[in-house]
Amino acid sequence: MYKIAFPRFGAYHVPIAFLIRKVLKATPIIPPNTSRKTLEIGSRVSPDFVCAPFKFTIGSMIEALELGADVIIGIGGTCRLSYYPELQQQILTDLGYKFKFINTANFSFRNPEFINLLKEINPEVNPLMFSKYWILAMEMVKAIDECESIIRNRVGFEVTKGSFDKVYHAFTNALYTVETIGEIKALKEKTINELKALPINKPKNCLRVGIIGEYYTVMEPYSNHFIEKELADNNIEVSRKLNISSTFITDTRPALLKNLKKYMQYEGGATTVYTINDALDYAEQGYDGIIHLKSFGCTPEVDMMPILHNISEDYKIPILYLSFDSQTSETGIKTRLEAFNDMIVLKKLKQVTKEIE
Ligand code: SF4
Repeated sequence: MYKIAFPRFGAYHVPIAFLIRKVLKATPIIPPNTSRKTLEIGSRVSPDFVCAPFKFTIGSMIEALELGADVIIGIGGTCRLSYYPELQQQILTDLGYKFKFINTANFSFRNPEFINLLKEINPEVNPLMFSKYWILAMEMVKAIDECESIIRNRVGFEVTKGSFDKVYHAFTNALYTVETIGEIKALKEKTINELKALPINKPKNCLRVGIIGEYYTVMEPYSNHFIEKELADNNIEVSRKLNISSTFITDTRPALLKNLKKYMQYEGGATTVYTINDALDYAEQGYDGIIHLKSFGCTPEVDMMPILHNISEDYKIPILYLSFDSQTSETGIKTRLEAFNDMIVLKKLKQVTKEIE
């Protein structure tokens, strides 16, 4: 039986592992949580100039190969990420690893090369079977995204330290065991009820911060130095609209772009439409601040910065810009975050004082 692995990316390893078991009838190899070690391994074998997601994902692939994986799934995307799987395959081959490579950038049931590769792994694979399990996997993705969104909104105010983490871990463990749409939905409802029942001490006018930016850096907690947790530890309500459900399951970019005319005439590639749309939403909803996350050298997101400056000017909303790569210092990020925190606290105080006067 084949042992198939994929780079770690947030909590989405659970639905990916499910697809591997059900569609390819293979054993999923789940690499360890992304860590400094993953980045160090990835940086050693990557061209220096590539963006951090390349280094993280190839590092994660190597960790999986060392665990015995014999098939690797490479993830494509809508920017230069679509070329990355090929390059990663070549680097891993040059390093002497023996493996088959599924490049999702070539994904199509009309692509004979892609189909032949899947059939080598499971001769019974077919589009109908794939669609059936894909729907279930996407239901799992939605469950993850909905539960995480509730956590972001409330965890900064938990009364018992670690209470939200405990429910979330129980949820992701249970997600490995569910197999039908009814079971997935029931688990989601149960978890949402449990999360909402956890005691919190949340002031009415607490600080609220929105997270926007580049896909990987926003969604893989290690790659952004666990920024959402840092904010929650400072009693801040966090919102992040960017996730797989809001982008991958339904592509809303063309519709969103029509409403962004004042700030953006053309798409900038990757997730830039979401970046601007979400920033505007947070500004209009009166959030206290926005944090823009990206990998160092991420051209699409760098291009968005002048537009974000305009939104910041127009709505008087502070935006903190953070870039991450293999050299990024944790202390540097913490210091900038503290300064940003002090600034939004001061701004809020002034606002509240004005309202009282
Ligand atoms: S969006 Fe930016 S960081 Fe992400 S893969 Fe593309 S260029 Fe790299």
